[in-house]
Amino acid sequence: MYRKPLTKFLIIIGSVCTAFVLVCCTIAFVRIFRASRETEKAQETLEAQREKMEEMEGTLKSAKKKVERAEKKRLKEEEEKIKVEPSETPIPTYAPTATPTPRASLTPTPGPSSAVSADREQAAVQPSGREERQQAMTGAGHVVGIDPGHQGPHVDMSATEPNGPGSAEMKAKATSGTSGAYSGLGEYQLNLDVSLKLQEVLEERGYRVVMTRTDNDTAISNAERALLAAEEGAEVYVRIHANGSDDHGVQGALSMCPSQDNPYVSELYSESLRLSESLLDAYCAATGFEDRGVQYTDTMTGINWSRVPVTILEMGFMTNEHDDLAMADDEFQQTMAEGIADGIDAYFAER
Ligand SMILES: [Zn+2]
Repeated sequence: MYRKPLTKFLIIIGSVCTAFVLVCCTIAFVRIFRASRETEKAQETLEAQREKMEEMEGTLKSAKKKVERAEKKRLKEEEEKIKVEPSETPIPTYAPTATPTPRASLTPTPGPSSAVSADREQAAVQPSGREERQQAMTGAGHVVGIDPGHQGPHVDMSATEPNGPGSAEMKAKATSGTSGAYSGLGEYQLNLDVSLKLQEVLEERGYRVVMTRTDNDTAISNAERALLAAEEGAEVYVRIHANGSDDHGVQGALSMCPSQDNPYVSELYSESLRLSESLLDAYCAATGFEDRGVQYTDTMTGINWSRVPVTILEMGFMTNEHDDLAMADDEFQQTMAEGIADGIDAYFAER
């Protein structure tokens, strides 16, 4: 008689206990689930914030670089203002003496200025667009000599030196270069500006760079520049110049190298030609400038004294409005420098 209610009681107690345990488990499970969701959310927010910060850092860096460049330009302009001389320096005339392959003529060129003009109308290849920039350490282990052509007009370089090792022909130690017909910029300054940018780009890519000058005041002759580059270990010697012509319609870039018959450096002919081609191709691809091809020259002191593969890059015509104004632009100069560096990359990639 007593057993039935007792069993009933026990069953009720059992059920209540089971229900209680179940509820507890459910609550615990829900809490754990919620906590894990919250952790995930927090992680996502953190990730997003990190990405945002990285983005902001990038913007800051590029802005900083821009400010630095502007500051450099301003300082240079101020320096220039101080240095400007009241006396007019004659603008050299560039007689159109295209020098294709033949032997070095040993007759002196008329006038103090080197004849660096290229009126030869060649198949003008208009390259399209810009190639992808290489950011890798393409230059690791290589040494490049860069010669920013000419020097400031206040430096007297009219004394002479032999046109090549052992040559009886004497030429001015260096000439004063041309100037921008529209920008008013001196070639010596343009050459230096682009060369300094090129140095930076090359060093970023892992090259060691030998500069023949880093200011406008250094008095160093063309022969001395060539020898300095080789003595400092340069594997190639890149001379940076800009062109001029009486014909303001002539535009575009060209490069120069010694011919096969050069009396001093004929052994450098094939590698110099490859260097000249690599540089010009990449430079024109980057800048969109007209490609006027490679020219041979055996009358330039700075080439005849070279001991390593050598090229002159005539970046454009300062007597042409399009070329002159483009080359005078600071941002565009960076593009020019990167184009030249791409050409140097291409040259070493094939070695
Ligand atoms: Zn020049």
